[in-house]
Amino acid sequence: MSFSQLNIITPILKAIEQEGYTIPSPIQEQAIPILLEGKDVLASAQTGTGKTAAFAIPIIQALYHQEQRLLSKRLIQALILAPTRELAEQIKESFRNYSREMSIKTEVIYGGVSQKNQEVALKKGLDVLIATPGRLLDLINQGLLTLSHVKYLVLDEADRMLDMGFIHDVKKIVKLVPEQRQTMLFSATLPKEIMKLANELLKHPVRIEVTPPEAMVDKIKQSLYYVSKKDKTHLLIDLLVNPKLESVLVFTRTKHGANKLVKELLSYGVKADAIHGNKSQNRRQQALTDFKGKRLRVLVATDIAARGIDIDELSHVINYDLPETPETYVHRMGRTGRAGLSGEAYSFCSQDEKSLLVAIIKHIKMDIPVIEHKVFQEKTKFNQVEKQNVKSVESKTVVDKKNNHTKTNAFRFGFEVKKNDGTKKNHQKGNTPSNMRLSTNQYRNKNNSKSK
Ligand code: AMP
Repeated sequence: MSFSQLNIITPILKAIEQEGYTIPSPIQEQAIPILLEGKDVLASAQTGTGKTAAFAIPIIQALYHQEQRLLSKRLIQALILAPTRELAEQIKESFRNYSREMSIKTEVIYGGVSQKNQEVALKKGLDVLIATPGRLLDLINQGLLTLSHVKYLVLDEADRMLDMGFIHDVKKIVKLVPEQRQTMLFSATLPKEIMKLANELLKHPVRIEVTPPEAMVDKIKQSLYYVSKKDKTHLLIDLLVNPKLESVLVFTRTKHGANKLVKELLSYGVKADAIHGNKSQNRRQQALTDFKGKRLRVLVATDIAARGIDIDELSHVINYDLPETPETYVHRMGRTGRAGLSGEAYSFCSQDEKSLLVAIIKHIKMDIPVIEHKVFQEKTKFNQVEKQNVKSVESKTVVDKKNNHTKTNAFRFGFEVKKNDGTKKNHQKGNTPSNMRLSTNQYRNKNNSKSK
């Protein structure tokens, strides 16, 4: 299917061509015709699927036909609510790009910056407003804008807005938009609260679901480690001895878990930071910039926070905690192996996560090779190895592999944790060369002097 078969008008087709898009993505193919008919849409699609164009193109096309836009002062006719300023900026860029051949004005407002420029833009008049909920409410309360002319309303990444605690603001805003409107809700996941919100806001919506890219999962080299909960951090540290783990995205289930893990990684001298809903916009952006710039080796994230991340050169994804739903496993895998790179992913599975693993295996319809690994549990090992030059790190990694990793290709339901635990003590001493071991005090001293 081509874009022209979707009944898109020429000026938008030209802009799409300039963007270099040749064929519509599945979400575009499904959503554009329905939205052009004026129907409400409830879509589950995540970043990277082309969802922005899927709602921007029909809105721009509808606005193009609004004569009012050309005759009088511009009125806000389309409102797009987004959870973060980065996403809001991206959406603004998309709208401006797709409407570059026509006279449509798009502006963006979000918090964390002075409102002065935003006030000026609002005074001049605009057709499309992209906003984060908090700042938008602020400006409305100051009487700087009205939503009484909005005809097209989009809630983008609704589940993330829920996670970030914006849902009440969103509800307040929606009350200020006329009932007579077209509403679109996009969300990567559809938990109960989002479905409830969708029922309140949408009228007979058409449900669109983009098939998750299960097919690409088999391009990712996946490995599975059975490990007790308490040994997960040590296992991660052991794996990080391998310099090939250059740029690692680690998923934890909770924000608290992410913070705790970052603290532990830092105590080992691993450059790490966390991104999740409790972190300020600025801190998240900073962490992301540092990660992309290779100043951070490990980025620990919760699923929702990781959603908007677009990093091409990610060497490894690690499921420190297995995800609650198999679909999320697939989404996480999609974070690596981008831009034609072969991705690699490790999953840690503790006893209580066994049922989650079974569901994942069933969903992806393939086995995940199990790697046996005996956790060292000594900070010293990592600390020492980090100090050596790359060459010796590499040779040490070979030793590690030889001594500690036995790859078994068959997926096994049985747990090896007991066996590993049972041999751990002997193994620890036997496999850690004496020159690699430091007493706890030595370690502390080294660490203290480092941090001073
Ligand atoms: P989104 O899911 O909206 O964040 O879009 C992800 C990326 O895909 C953006 O960089 C878009 O520019 C790009 N994109 C959107 N639609 C298409 C398409 N039909 N063909 C190629 N790239 C696209």
